[in-house]
Amino acid sequence: MQHSMIWMSTAHPGGGEQKYIDDAFNKGRLFAFGENKDGFEADLEHYLGNGNYVAALNSGTAAIHLALILMGVGPGDEVICQSLTFAASANPIVYLGATPVFVGSEPQTWNICPDALETAIKNRIAAGKKPKAIIAVHLYGMPYKVKEVHEISAKYGVPVLEDSAEALGSTYFGQKCGTFGDIAVLSFNGNKIITTSSGGAIVCKNPDDKKKALYFATQAKDPVPHYQHSSVGYNYSMSNILAGIGRGQMEVLEDRILKRRQNNIFYRDLFEALPVATVFSSFDEKGFYSNYWLTVAVFKREGDNILLMEHLRKENIESRPVFKPLHLQPVFKQSLYFGNEVAENIYNSGLCLPSGSNFTDAERERVAESIYRWYKENP
Ligand SMILES: *Cc1c(COP(=O)(O)O)cnc(C)c1O
Repeated sequence: MQHSMIWMSTAHPGGGEQKYIDDAFNKGRLFAFGENKDGFEADLEHYLGNGNYVAALNSGTAAIHLALILMGVGPGDEVICQSLTFAASANPIVYLGATPVFVGSEPQTWNICPDALETAIKNRIAAGKKPKAIIAVHLYGMPYKVKEVHEISAKYGVPVLEDSAEALGSTYFGQKCGTFGDIAVLSFNGNKIITTSSGGAIVCKNPDDKKKALYFATQAKDPVPHYQHSSVGYNYSMSNILAGIGRGQMEVLEDRILKRRQNNIFYRDLFEALPVATVFSSFDEKGFYSNYWLTVAVFKREGDNILLMEHLRKENIESRPVFKPLHLQPVFKQSLYFGNEVAENIYNSGLCLPSGSNFTDAERERVAESIYRWYKENP
């Protein structure tokens, strides 16, 4: 008998999503503005805490694009970006005619390495190309080294765009991820910890930036009665229907964080009993509290991650390699890279395992049994 598919990370409804959607329908508010959009923004502002202003957008990628615009990035500029991340972290740099400069990872959080970051900034300043921004990512939910990265940002006067797409619910010494950057972004794509099926948000430090983000997100209309535009705008606002999903999801966020963290414990136990891999990461004891959006295992024997992935796929269990570092991507092969081989080694040995908040006990057993069986057959 073929088992049903176990996915790595899927949408998990369960709050009052339908109620908010129905309300928008009943009122005929099928727009990219309205009560749900305002309500979702207010929920996020409340969750993140004082001093943060949130604009809900139609994707995390759109949020990064607008954040770079607010930071003044334009043609010919350079922007530093963590190499070990999803391509969406860097693509908007190219949309703007700017050039990404990639920086490697440190082994503790897997995120942007402060030493390599400083080397990169010094090198680019010496070349007369002072970077316009630093895109730092909380990969798989693990906070980057906030203190070190932001000290370098302040020292050289290069602002940080905090890519918190995977880290809603993570904290760094008690402060929520998404509140550290000069501007931050969130994603509510269907595979993230909570979702609007597709969506994102930009987190600003002042109401003015939020206003500007919403202005660019709604076609940059000048405040006059006729259609007049003094800038190029975008159609990036979040739909009022999808924002209704977001409001419902906010009601269950705490539960979703706990479930993902329990998955991580499950895999730690598994790979303690079967010591073929180590589970990323044990760094959260030091104030780095991850939502463990995805749990990643790093295999000790070369090639096991890919062979095991193929075995699991045959058993209808989805797993995936770690993101291929962006400086190794064909599309970015001309780019500068500052860093060592940490990111590449993680890519070569890591495997993302089923980590959804809807991962059941029976499914966990299936995954464990399948991994044990493969190692019995391939000792
Ligand atoms: C998902 C993701 C994005 C992009 O978000 P979308 O909502 O899918 O556009 C950006 N950066 C990282 C690190 C992500 O994981």
